[in-house]
Amino acid sequence: MGRTDYLDRLNDKQREAAMHTEGPLLILAGAGSGKTSTMTCRIAYLIRELGVHPYNILAVTFTNKAAKEMRDRVAALIGEGVDMWLLTFHSACLRILRYHAESIGYGRDFAVYDPTDQKAVVKNICKELNIDTKKFAPSYFLGIISKCKEARVKPGDFFREYGSGYKEEMIQKVYERYEETLKKNNAMDFDDLLLKTVELFERDEEVLEKYRNRFRYIMVDEYQDTNMIQYAFVKMLAEGRDREGNPRRNICVVGDDDQCIYQWRGADIRNILEFEKDFPGAKTIKLEQNYRSTANILAAAHSVIERNRGRKAKKLWTDAEDGNKIVYQRLDDERDEAGYIASEINRIGGSYNDFAVLYRTNAQSRTFEEALSRRGIPYRVLGGLRYYDRKEIKDMMSYMRLVQNRADDLSLVRIINEPKRGIGGKTLEKLQQQAKAAGKSLFDTLRDEETAAALSARASEGVKTLTTLIESCSMEKNNMKISDLYDLLLTGSGYMKALEDQNTLEAESRLENLMEFKSVIYDYEKDDPNLTLEDFMERIALLSDIDNHQPEENAVVLMTLHSAKGLEFPYVFMPGMEDGLFPGWRAFDREDGLEEERRLCYVGITRAKQRLWMTSAETRTLYGKTDYTRESQFLREIDRKLMEGDGVVEKKDKTRAAFRDGAASSTAFKPFDQLKYARQETKKKAAAIQRAVGESFSPGDRVSHDKFGEGTVVEATDKTVRVEFADETRKLALGFAPIKKI
Ligand code: ATP
Ligand code: MG
Repeated sequence: MGRTDYLDRLNDKQREAAMHTEGPLLILAGAGSGKTSTMTCRIAYLIRELGVHPYNILAVTFTNKAAKEMRDRVAALIGEGVDMWLLTFHSACLRILRYHAESIGYGRDFAVYDPTDQKAVVKNICKELNIDTKKFAPSYFLGIISKCKEARVKPGDFFREYGSGYKEEMIQKVYERYEETLKKNNAMDFDDLLLKTVELFERDEEVLEKYRNRFRYIMVDEYQDTNMIQYAFVKMLAEGRDREGNPRRNICVVGDDDQCIYQWRGADIRNILEFEKDFPGAKTIKLEQNYRSTANILAAAHSVIERNRGRKAKKLWTDAEDGNKIVYQRLDDERDEAGYIASEINRIGGSYNDFAVLYRTNAQSRTFEEALSRRGIPYRVLGGLRYYDRKEIKDMMSYMRLVQNRADDLSLVRIINEPKRGIGGKTLEKLQQQAKAAGKSLFDTLRDEETAAALSARASEGVKTLTTLIESCSMEKNNMKISDLYDLLLTGSGYMKALEDQNTLEAESRLENLMEFKSVIYDYEKDDPNLTLEDFMERIALLSDIDNHQPEENAVVLMTLHSAKGLEFPYVFMPGMEDGLFPGWRAFDREDGLEEERRLCYVGITRAKQRLWMTSAETRTLYGKTDYTRESQFLREIDRKLMEGDGVVEKKDKTRAAFRDGAASSTAFKPFDQLKYARQETKKKAAAIQRAVGESFSPGDRVSHDKFGEGTVVEATDKTVRVEFADETRKLALGFAPIKKI
């Protein structure tokens, strides 16, 4: 490669940006216009042509994956490996703190606490402060603490920011002690990495100067998604002075206000919109040519994003041909949708890597995983786990396996302290030894009264609830629908409640996955109403083990729209184009919510290079609930001339007519919070079944059973009843059998 070939391949604007190396520079441009490519060339230009030492460059990107890709590309351009700071914000800060922790009162070998460590700390504090963690889960406090740190609210400023009341005082106290504990343990959490670096810079002029002198060239990709602290970090570093004492401000930020999709996590779009104000004299370069997508795809992306009001007007053009139209297909249900996508992948052929399925919520991955597996198409779930590998799914499967077979020690060990029942590692070890010595299963050991008596009060109560639940469920397993059994396990174990109490985004996503498991069960029940637990578990086992966790190199990519930012694929599918799912129902509640969803839609469409499919399902079973859906308003926003497919063809039904006329207005429609509904259903169902606990039955009582119909009690104890139904007599566990007196 000639010396400057890589510059020749850039367009004029891109080249101007790559070669504008002194003073603040903003590259503000739409998707696929070569922002990231230009930044990469700029680094190569600095090193190769200007002889800047890589040591003097700091480049920050959003994910480790993006950082690695850029490092490889720079290496390819300059023809050698580079050892430079091309990192995420967190790793850059960690490196700095390792050197200078002492000047802010930490030892250099400070620990970085992950969420598990953090929870342990808060739990202890709650104990000290006599806070009931059943009412206020550690993660509840941690969520607030994290928000405080992002906004730089110290424990001392807490009341000023949040007001004071009983609850605020409690939170403030926990926050204060949390900070003390971490400090005492010489530890930092993830938020601290950024926060403490900024504090270090504020407190220690010398250190700040050192880095200002070192990082003469600073670059940030995806600047639209930076939060307040990241902004402070970059700004301070950029304000160094050269030998003559003139401000250097060699900062180049790259981004697209239309792709800001993390406001819900504190990203501040103003950082990019006000760059010119923050760095007076900044040069702004707009890249206007899109190199990624066909003209049709680009036009579709524009017709959506144009509707946002709070944006800088900009429009990309392309040399590319129109290409195929965007296919919009309306399918019968979500299974049909996944099947359609799988068959399209087979029909187009070529390399599996070229296909991506981008969905709105993690729980949606399940149907695609199944459809692809069934057809032997390899897939990878990027930026997340495969559905059946997710912790909460594995936990609930362990509960079900235990119901099926109480001697399954492995499953019991997995869930004995999930949710927390006060059985730590040591206690468990002791229990396992006891079981071994007695030649019994762990479950039978737990049922032993002596064993229970030796446990702490909390643990022994927890164990009792658990064993009763499992026993009653196994007794009832053949009398009950699997979906009911699942509801009972989910509520009776306290698993669902523990997640709800956490009140965090992570817990919410776990709940989504758990509710989605009900769709799995309903699916199988629909096909075979007499499905036994054994059959069901066997089928799931096959399903969850299909490719035996072999990570495939050549595989279809499944990921959320959020994690697809910055990436590109020849063929992209966007399923679930339905109001309430995408845009998500939350968008209808929150100001700005809809605009952020629309930006996410823009991000999704612009990932596609050659072809784009959008799909929706007439009815969708999500979280176990089946509903008619309405086509996404984003579909209506795309110019219909750009689209083809059955979904666009006029049909008589109402939703399609609405789609055709663009008549259904977004304000008139209030999507429905399916997750909330599914959670309530689960509780209601479980409560109805358990209502019978307090009820006493005596021989002769007439009862009705959800599955077996009406019958007469022939025998009753305080735990069980024997009922004569039309065809046979059955023994039922009170509290778990779906029976009512009539
Ligand atoms: P996003 O907003 O999605 O992050 P981006 O602006 O960072 O996109 P890139 O990923 O850098 O865009 O580039 C998009 C595609 O266009 C890439 O495949 C890249 O190789 C190609 N590309 C960029 N500039 C040029 C150019 N001057 N000539 C040909 N192809 C280009
Ligand atoms: Mg990019």
